[in-house]
Amino acid sequence: MVGMTISVPWNAAWSAEESYEIRPCRYASGCPALWSPHRPGVGKPIFARPHMVRQRRSIAEWRCTVCGEKTAPNDRWWFRLGDFRDGWFMTTEAPVHHACARHALKVCPHLRGREHDLEPMPGGFYILKSMIGGPVSERDFGLNFPPQGVVGHLKIAWPENRACWSNRHG
Ligand SMILES: [Zn+2]
Repeated sequence: MVGMTISVPWNAAWSAEESYEIRPCRYASGCPALWSPHRPGVGKPIFARPHMVRQRRSIAEWRCTVCGEKTAPNDRWWFRLGDFRDGWFMTTEAPVHHACARHALKVCPHLRGREHDLEPMPGGFYILKSMIGGPVSERDFGLNFPPQGVVGHLKIAWPENRACWSNRHG
C-alpha cells in the first residue's frame, strides 16, 4: 500500500497503451502472449480492462491489483469475483492488500456493496493461461494469431468441488 491517493488501479490499462503485439511473456513461462506497451498514467485510464502484461504479472507475482506491490501470504485478499466454468471457479482478478481493498470499496463503483465478500484469498488454486485467437480477436487487436492462439490473461482457478464459497453476485 503506497498511500490513499490512488484513484486508478495499477492493473488498469491506459489509452496510450492501446497497441498490441505478440511477444514472449516472462509471466507466462515465456509463451507467446498478447503484449501492450507500458505507459501507465498517459492518456485516459480504461477501468473496465486490465493491461495485459500487468495483469499477468500481478497474478504471477501476487501483486495487488490496486497498488501493484507484492502481497504477502498473510495480507492477500479478494472479493470472490469470478465465474464457475468447465469444472473450475476462475478469476482474472489479482489479489489485493486489505488496506487497498478498503480503499477500493470506497472509490470503485463495481465493488459497491461487496464489503461482505472481502476475505483472505483461499488456497488450493492453480494458475491457468487463457488463450486468445481466432477471427474476433484478430479483428479486436489487429493482429494475426497463430492457430493455437497466444496467451491472454492469467487466471487463478480453484477446482469447482473445492470452491466452497457461494458466488452470490453471479
Ligand atoms: Zn495494495
